[in-house]
Amino acid sequence: MSATLTDPCRPMTASEKFTFSCHTEVPCFNECCRQIDLVLTPYDVLRLKKRLKLDSAAFLDRYVIVEWEEGMRFPHCFLTMVDDGKASCVFVSEQGCRVYDDRPTACRAYPAGRGASRRVDGTVSEQFVLVREPHCKGFTFGAALSVPAYFQSQGLTEYYRFNDQLLQLLQHPKVRAGFRPTRAQMQQFILALYNVDMFRRELLAGRIKLKQPLAPMESRAIASGDDKSLLLLGVRWLLEEYFGEYWCGTEYRKTAYAA
Ligand code: SF4
Ligand code: SF4
Repeated sequence: MSATLTDPCRPMTASEKFTFSCHTEVPCFNECCRQIDLVLTPYDVLRLKKRLKLDSAAFLDRYVIVEWEEGMRFPHCFLTMVDDGKASCVFVSEQGCRVYDDRPTACRAYPAGRGASRRVDGTVSEQFVLVREPHCKGFTFGAALSVPAYFQSQGLTEYYRFNDQLLQLLQHPKVRAGFRPTRAQMQQFILALYNVDMFRRELLAGRIKLKQPLAPMESRAIASGDDKSLLLLGVRWLLEEYFGEYWCGTEYRKTAYAA
């Protein structure tokens, strides 16, 4: 499995179908869970740390490698691989993925991939690819599905709903025009989007303040441990900190409370 889009990729339209099924009987079972650069989205981390019953700081410490240097747009957070000579994923076992129900976005999407662009009106356009790697034998099994239908079957609707909220930040016009975070801003990025338990504590202690005060339902959601709301507040805080934007909040409230 590859989180980066490499040579065997080909573009797919939304209606084009491909045949694929991955299950324990495939001869290549687990082959794709090693030697990969597996990028984690903030929502991936939220699901995994909940699954493992870990505080976000402990999860980051144990399972995440943060890559960032001056001039990069934003940090990349990679899942740790094991030093077993095969660079296996930390969660793979003989029986398969140990966190299957909460596996990251890239694992769910494979062998397809999705690019998303935020338009000026706030809607998102999608581009799809299919990755055919020689070791993957899943293409000889299963029913024919379009990429969007395949993503839906893999539980990705919820993942993309939250991943796409980050586009407001990652594809902000000022980022497109050359904005690059300083080291301090990079640390804010990790705090607000990946270390959500710490972010919650800082908010509740009043050490982090948003320009627009929290609505009562948001304060309640945060105090009660609603990580999804917190993640969206993290996006809002970063927009305010980086670009001085006074975000109305309608979009994230809709997303947070639609689930
Ligand atoms: S998280 Fe699970 S599916 Fe993804 S690479 Fe690791 S073992 Fe494989
Ligand atoms: S069929 Fe493809 S996705 Fe499934 S285990 Fe084999 S290599 Fe991995």
